[in-house]
Amino acid sequence: MESEAVTNFRTYLRIPSVQPDVDYGPCLEFLKGQAKSLDLPCRIFEVVAKKPIVVISWEGKEPKLPSVLLNSHMDVVPVYPEKWTHDPFSADKDANGNIYARGSQDMKCVGIQYIEAVRRLKFSGIKLKRTLHLSFVPDEEIGGADGMKKFVHTDDFKKLNIGFSLDEGMASPTEEFVLYNGERSIWHMCIHCPGTPGHGSLMHPSTAGEKLRIIIDRFMDFRQKEKEKLEANPTLTVGDVTTINLTQIKGGVQPNVVPPELQVIFDARLAVTIDHKEFLAMIESWCNEAGPGTHLTFIQRNAKAPVTPLDESNPWWVAFKRASDAMNLKIRTLIFPGGTDSRFVREVGIPAIGFSPINRTPILLHDHDEFLNETIFLKGIDIYEKIIPAVADI
Ligand code: ZN
Repeated sequence: MESEAVTNFRTYLRIPSVQPDVDYGPCLEFLKGQAKSLDLPCRIFEVVAKKPIVVISWEGKEPKLPSVLLNSHMDVVPVYPEKWTHDPFSADKDANGNIYARGSQDMKCVGIQYIEAVRRLKFSGIKLKRTLHLSFVPDEEIGGADGMKKFVHTDDFKKLNIGFSLDEGMASPTEEFVLYNGERSIWHMCIHCPGTPGHGSLMHPSTAGEKLRIIIDRFMDFRQKEKEKLEANPTLTVGDVTTINLTQIKGGVQPNVVPPELQVIFDARLAVTIDHKEFLAMIESWCNEAGPGTHLTFIQRNAKAPVTPLDESNPWWVAFKRASDAMNLKIRTLIFPGGTDSRFVREVGIPAIGFSPINRTPILLHDHDEFLNETIFLKGIDIYEKIIPAVADI
C-alpha cells in the first residue's frame, strides 16, 4: 500500500506546471484541496494577473509573534521528453521506489513535504507557538520577477509578519545534506562595442571587433583568475567564487561589411564577498580601455542580498541546528551557486535558509530523468516534522 503522502506527491507531479506560459489553475485547485484536507485557510494573492501566490496558514498560539514561512515554487522547467525513460509528467514509480517526474526534486517534493509534516503535527493535536505560512509561488524558474520578487514588497506580504523563511536547497548524492544561507548576485550584462563601419577590405580605425576583443579578453582574464582560485582550494565550491560566462555574441550582417556595433553578453554570478560598486567600476574601466562608445547595459542586475548568519546571533538557526543535530543529520553549509526566491526574502531583511531534505540522491534538477526515491521523500517529512516545530516554537 502506498502512503497517502506519496500519492499526494505524485498527483502534484502530474500537473504540468511547466514553463513557459504556465497555467497555474490546476495547481490552485490541487492546493485548495490540500488546505481543505488540513482544515486550514487558504488565500490567493495575485500581484500580477494569472500569476497566483497561494498561502495556506496555520495560526499559532501567539499569532502576534513573527511567523515562519515555508516557501516552494509551483513551476518547473521544460523537458526534452525524448531523453526521458519515463513520461516526465506521469510520476511513474519503478520497482525500487524511484518516482520519475519533472519537479520531483525541484521542488514539488518540498511543497508536499511541508503539507504532510503540517498534517501530522496538526492532527496529532500539537499547537505551535508561532503561525506558519505555507506559500506556493509562481515563476521561480524564470527569475521570480512576477512572483516572489514583487510579492515581498506588497502589504499582503508584510501582513504575514515573517520572521524566518525556509525554501529550496539541492539534492546531495552522499549521506550529507546541503544547506544554503546565501546566494551570489546575478548580473546579466550586455557590452555594446560600437565602431567605424565600412567595407570589409579596408583598414578602418576603431572598429567594433577591436573593442570586442579587449572586452572579451578582460572578462576571460578575470574568469581565469577565479577558476584558478577555485581549483587551488578544495574547500571552495563554485558558490564561493565569481563565475563569468560568455553566453551570447550579436551583430553583423554579412562577411564583407564591418558592422557599426557588436554586442557581447555575459552571465556573471558575483560572490557574496564582492563589493558591487568596485566590480562595476572595474567593468567600466574595461569599457574605457576598449575605446569610445563602449558601454554596458544590464539585462538583469541583482542587488547584494545579505547572507543569513549561521551562528548564535540567529535564534532561528540555533533552533534548526538543535533539531537537525538531534536527528544526527550531517549537514554541509554552502552558498547557493544559482538563484532562488530566498534572495528576495533576504533582500527585505528576513533570514532565509535553503534546504531540501534530499540526501543519497543524484543531483538531477533541470536534468533528464529527474527522480526522487519514495523512502527519501518520506524521510524528508520526518525531518520537517522535527524542524518545523523547533523553529515555530522559539
Ligand atoms: Zn527550484
